[in-house]
Amino acid sequence: MRITRIPARLVLAAAVAGVALAAGKPALFAAELMAAARSSIQAEDAKRHVCALADDALEGREGGSRGGRAAGSYIISHLEKLELEPAGDNGSYYQQFGGMRNILALARGSDPAVANELIVVGAHYDHVGYGNSGNSYGPFGFVHNGADDNASGVAGLIEVAEAMQHLPGRPRRPILFAFWDGEEKGLLGSYHFVRVRPALLAQMSIAFSVNLDMIGRLRGERLEIFGARTSEGLRAAVVQSNNRPAAQPLELAFDWAIDEDSDHYPFIAAQIPTIMFHTGLHDQYHRPSDDVQLINFEGIEPVARLTLDFLTALADDRGPPRSFRSQARSESDATKRALEAPAVSGAAPQTVAQPALNSRPRWGIGTRADSGEPMNPVIVRITAGSPAAQAGMMLGDRVVAIDGTVVINQADMVARLAAAGSSVAIDVDRKGRVVRLAVAAMQP
Ligand SMILES: [Zn+2]
Repeated sequence: MRITRIPARLVLAAAVAGVALAAGKPALFAAELMAAARSSIQAEDAKRHVCALADDALEGREGGSRGGRAAGSYIISHLEKLELEPAGDNGSYYQQFGGMRNILALARGSDPAVANELIVVGAHYDHVGYGNSGNSYGPFGFVHNGADDNASGVAGLIEVAEAMQHLPGRPRRPILFAFWDGEEKGLLGSYHFVRVRPALLAQMSIAFSVNLDMIGRLRGERLEIFGARTSEGLRAAVVQSNNRPAAQPLELAFDWAIDEDSDHYPFIAAQIPTIMFHTGLHDQYHRPSDDVQLINFEGIEPVARLTLDFLTALADDRGPPRSFRSQARSESDATKRALEAPAVSGAAPQTVAQPALNSRPRWGIGTRADSGEPMNPVIVRITAGSPAAQAGMMLGDRVVAIDGTVVINQADMVARLAAAGSSVAIDVDRKGRVVRLAVAAMQP
């Protein structure tokens, strides 16, 4: 546990300080070396994939249908071009089940010591065909192209796979690119994979998974993220990828709900730490009108680039595999609201939170520790007119670093603020972006 946090801290410190990751590991994937790989992810390419997959000729890609099979052929033509290793049945890319087919392609890692710690990144490629009362909000009988759901995620994943092939080296752990079938029929493909793995992958355990479902409707740069509490330090890792140099930072909306509504769920149910990226629901969800003219192709680009960066960092992490945090399954957005709610003086501490500790008037803030994200205490009180208020601190901000050094936990933050001089630079995570606040202490 502790070993995993140390490298994460170092990496985050480098990102926060805005310096290149020269001395820290992994040097191979330092920002400047990632640039070529990242820039291979292009909105124009994503558009080409979405338009091909959401074409009427594919008849809505229902699992097991001829349109679904045609979509599979399209995906495989790209995997072959990228020379990714087939990881399905009998040396093929297909994993067959119930008349449907997952598509699996492997990028081996560079470190034999972690060759069995598989990182799975997936997107479902099926949709609902012509729609019926069980899977569509109508009208039924028309092709449901599913441009956002989930041609967008498949397009993003193909781009990520391509970018991985542009990296100057391989991350330590193997990465499996998985295109799930039968998601719309009940997450059938991902459930099947979690239960049964093809021979090539049989010796591996799944260390982590990432799911891309509906990433084609980015609005106001707001990306929804599910599952960040399934292991400690995940939020910090995503934020770090979001704030890396030369990135186009997104507004990250961390949602605590974990529902059986996409392919992240079978992994979480199997106690595997898992993250899902999603650009949000809309009126065309599961209707024939979810079509290409409404897709924000420019928006797929930063989401896929964030996925690449996060995935690479994860696969290359020096620590042991992340452990699953089972409390995540019972946490909801109500838990989140309770934790991040302003502290009322005299109120009993909440069950998920520690009472505010550092109410020193010098800075004018109170925080709570968060068991799911112990590195990043959350601001729950700002004294009116205080230095923190004047510096623009906001409720719900999470303290990431003080004077450029990453905070380890609430006690560390309290000690550092107590020892600080007359002014400090406090880096906070505000909706997934790191904001630096210059806070001048109250004069005694
Ligand atoms: Zn769907």
